[in-house]
Amino acid sequence: MPVKVNPEVCIGCGACCGGCPTGSLNLNDEGKSVCNEDTCIDCGACVATCPVGAIEQ
Ligand code: SF4
Ligand code: SF4
Repeated sequence: MPVKVNPEVCIGCGACCGGCPTGSLNLNDEGKSVCNEDTCIDCGACVATCPVGAIEQ
């Protein structure tokens, strides 16, 4: 299962985007991180990189 980003919590810092090994996280037009469900390998790396705990695995 791909991870889920809570847009209510995400502050759009972009830290998770650069750390994802498959490039699956990108900021949308509203500046919130969104996970590409087709490419996420569920490694969990992004969960630890988010400073506000917006990503759930
Ligand atoms: S779980 Fe891994 S592959 Fe999926 S979005 Fe997070 S860092 Fe990227
Ligand atoms: S690291 Fe967390 S707060 Fe920063 S863009 Fe990613 S999900 Fe949003």
